[in-house]
Amino acid sequence: MLNSSVSLRRRGITNNNNIHNPFQGPSSRLSTISRCSLILLFITACFNASTKDFSFNNWRESSSSSAASSHSNNKKGLPQSVLQQQHDICVVGAGLSGAVIAERYATQLNQKVLIVEKRGHIGGNCYDFLDPQANVRISKYGAHLFHTKHERVWEYVQQFSEWTPYEHKVIGLVNNTHVPIPVNIDTVNTLFGLQLTNSQQMDQWLAKEQVKYDHEPSNAEEVALSRVGPRLYDLIFKPYTKKQWDRDPKELGPEVTARIPVRNDFDGRYFSDPYQALPKRGYTAIFERMFHHPNIQVYTNVDYFDVRSQLDCGRTYYTGPIDTYFADLGWEKLQYRSLTFERQFYKNKDFFQPAFVVNHPYESADFTRIVEYKHLPDQPKSPHTVIFVERSSDVGEPYYPIPNQRNKDLFRKYQDMANKEPKVTFVGRLANYKYFNMDDAILNALELFDQDTQQQQKQRQEKAKTTS
Ligand code: FAD
Ligand code: UDP
Repeated sequence: MLNSSVSLRRRGITNNNNIHNPFQGPSSRLSTISRCSLILLFITACFNASTKDFSFNNWRESSSSSAASSHSNNKKGLPQSVLQQQHDICVVGAGLSGAVIAERYATQLNQKVLIVEKRGHIGGNCYDFLDPQANVRISKYGAHLFHTKHERVWEYVQQFSEWTPYEHKVIGLVNNTHVPIPVNIDTVNTLFGLQLTNSQQMDQWLAKEQVKYDHEPSNAEEVALSRVGPRLYDLIFKPYTKKQWDRDPKELGPEVTARIPVRNDFDGRYFSDPYQALPKRGYTAIFERMFHHPNIQVYTNVDYFDVRSQLDCGRTYYTGPIDTYFADLGWEKLQYRSLTFERQFYKNKDFFQPAFVVNHPYESADFTRIVEYKHLPDQPKSPHTVIFVERSSDVGEPYYPIPNQRNKDLFRKYQDMANKEPKVTFVGRLANYKYFNMDDAILNALELFDQDTQQQQKQRQEKAKTTS
């Protein structure tokens, strides 16, 4: 924290031009004691808010502890009545992938579904709730913007929420100036003092900057250099990627920087998908709606591996990390990158920064971006604001699979084992060890549901044929 504060000051960043130093606000003046009380207050308030929010019939918190438990830690996580039941479908994880599977089996095939979730809440990484102090809806695991090009996914999600059109725009603080990210004409004009006015000029400018390769760009550095050239790479991509992944971009797969488009016009949108929107009442409300079905039971604070041996499941859908499932093999673990979110509350402050997300790519800041949820539509009225300073870390929740050769090879070995696992389908972001956006996760779950149920139907037909 001190380092960032010092480094920001060194770069001469002031509150001029609406550029805010996150460490010069009121919270940086708090004593350690009042900081601690604030954190405690926040944790208590979050807990209250989350338990209050979700008091619907079929979501019960189990009596077992939410502390991460190893396979051998045999806590009794589910009531006897549930352990005695035969479940058509068991789902491990109450995130998006698990929710889609549960909803499909319950509503389309009238099957009984049991979901166990090891965290204390539903929604997986999409979980959001009202920050009780700021009265602003925030996402516990980082900003979540829904965007898709898949008609099927877009139609599917309409059932569970009203959606407010929202096109996400990110601002980057680069050379002490706010510029649009992804790179567009405005970015280049601002950073290099140019006056490009159309796509043709921008294409010509980019062509002069871009590094040409005689092969397909094969890592995150080559992708960025081939798209924007060394000057923008050094300003926007290299330091951010290094901070985000704690690796040289050369060591990362090309898909990392390929996520961000480069625009030859003035389009300031982060995503290009035709459908971009946010759920009017937040994401958690969607999960409540999906789980509100007499065929679905959800138990939070239950680690699957604590109850697996006692469960009677027709088929299991596992949405946790694939290497955890096969932990007994004693193989090496897959690597993940995690994030920490430093919360800062600003009493009686309208806004802290000019946009929902401001990226800080420069090397001297020890954080990557700052998120201020108050900018989003459908927020309740509040005189205060709250921000989250995002830092990457090697420890913590498994968020980002690290796309390098070692992990790709290791994942393939786990996947071979998964393919042989009887009556278990591996679904979702962690089980596929792949960076799925929400729409990818939904599509993956819908397609696996189709695939499995068609296969089951075929098997039933074949069985009927042989017995008749
Ligand atoms: P998860 O949400 O991770 O759910 C898996 C669940 O399984 C978890 O709740 C976990 O606790 C549970 N579980 C694991 N092991 C066990 C076990 N042993 N027993 C019981 N339960 C278990 N996508 C977008 O489209 N737009 C965005 O802007 C966006 N932003 C993101 C920002 C961040 C920081 C992150 C991390 C992700 C973001 N995503 C975004 C991706 C989005 O979060 C995922 O696509 C989605 O959450 C995937 O759902 P899932 O169910 O596959 O995985
Ligand atoms: N990236 C970057 N500078 C930026 C934004 C993104 O270098 O200002 C790179 C970085 O490597 C990052 C990747 O692009 O990991 C994908 O960015 P995105 O915003 O999609 O990351 P996420 O929201 O998934 O954390």
